[in-house]
Amino acid sequence: MSQNIEFKNGKVIVPDQPTIPFIEGDGIGKDITEPSQRVINAAVKAAYGDSKKLIWKEVLAGKKAFDLTGEYMPDETLKAFQEYLVGIKGPLETPVGEGIRSLNVALRQTLDLYVCLRPIRWFKGVPSPVRYPELVDMHIFRENTEDIYAGIEFMTGSAEAIKFCDFLINEMEVDVIRFPESSSFGVKPVSKEGSERLIRAAIKYAIERELPSVTIVHKGNIMKFTEGAFKNWGYDLAEAEFAHQTFTMRKFQQIARENGLKEAKTAFSKAKAMGKVIVKDVITDAFLQESLLHPYEHSVIATLNLNGDYISDQLAAMVGGIGISPGANINYISGYAIFEATHGTAPNIAGTGKANPGSLILSGAMMLEYLGWYEAAEHVYDAMDHTFSKRKVTSDLFNMMEGATLLTTSEFADEIIRNIH
Ligand code: NAD
Repeated sequence: MSQNIEFKNGKVIVPDQPTIPFIEGDGIGKDITEPSQRVINAAVKAAYGDSKKLIWKEVLAGKKAFDLTGEYMPDETLKAFQEYLVGIKGPLETPVGEGIRSLNVALRQTLDLYVCLRPIRWFKGVPSPVRYPELVDMHIFRENTEDIYAGIEFMTGSAEAIKFCDFLINEMEVDVIRFPESSSFGVKPVSKEGSERLIRAAIKYAIERELPSVTIVHKGNIMKFTEGAFKNWGYDLAEAEFAHQTFTMRKFQQIARENGLKEAKTAFSKAKAMGKVIVKDVITDAFLQESLLHPYEHSVIATLNLNGDYISDQLAAMVGGIGISPGANINYISGYAIFEATHGTAPNIAGTGKANPGSLILSGAMMLEYLGWYEAAEHVYDAMDHTFSKRKVTSDLFNMMEGATLLTTSEFADEIIRNIH
């Protein structure tokens, strides 16, 4: 019998047959959803026999919802994610010029899903532009609710832009706006609370999974009170809340200044030997280069919204592209979590059997991990590894792999299921 997942004392309590709401999604959403669910079901069965099972419950959003109900995001859909706590979704088309900013943003805001989590790992055989893709194993924690993405923007010439510009010049004595008459404006809110909850989640994740480091990625050299503060709040938090489990590079610098480099290096080695998580920071532009040259130096990445957007796509490209990059939007305080295909609706290939269901399948595996069903998730990862190493792939990867066998969306899912068994 299906039951609801609960969240108590910071932990998800999962019944043996949890109800999982899912949004099929637009475009290739229809092509990838059913095959992905078949894979996830097979992995759960292989891990637990008949003792555990996911009960899928379709909820409507996007074009399908509009055609059936006249609304792109019916209230019942938002309520279902609230009631059932954990769900999954395919890609949604953003309706243009109809007063809706983005359905994805609506979900994130309603449930305050402040972490956008993107694990980046390489599967054997997948074509990659980097020389040693096997060294890529990173987990991006992108802040999902603040920053320049908050949507506070004023178009040049509007009454708001004129008023805002006037306020800056006359009341705040700002004298660096180069062309005030023709400027548009955007506001970048970054709060201590928002930064702390994101970085806390990243550090906890590293500790729980015994990962070696958390890198705070920021542009604090230029934007001192937003990005720079994000970095400082992160270090403060690590040293105050996780003093026994972490060692910060800020502490390293302090020891080096006060007692010399030798002592700082000894403290660092000792912390590593004790299995402490090393918390460090890197400026964003340097990080984009670093992640290509020395990916093994970075494990968990904590960053603000805009940086996170760029970083997610670069890192995804390093391991085979958006067709196989999973993602999730999570609130670790309320427990709400929506796992999702990270790519869009790919209208150019919808209905052709060319879509790679990998992103949604791996998002499903992330969901299994979130539920604590690790054995089932491992089945998915192992079978995916096996399928790629046999060079059986969908069309997005076919042309880039020598000697590959081309499979349709559904055949690819079937092959993974065969490899689970
Ligand atoms: P897209 O990701 O849909 O497509 C970009 C390219 O990647 C296309 O060539 C497409 O064929 C290919 N592609 C994407 N997913 C693939 C897969 N699983 N297998 C094989 N090839 C794949 O991006 P777009 O064209 O910029 O956006 C199309 C629509 O999707 C827009 O309406 C956009 O708003 C929406 N979108 C939604 C989400 C989401 O729901 N999370 C994310 C991005 C874009």
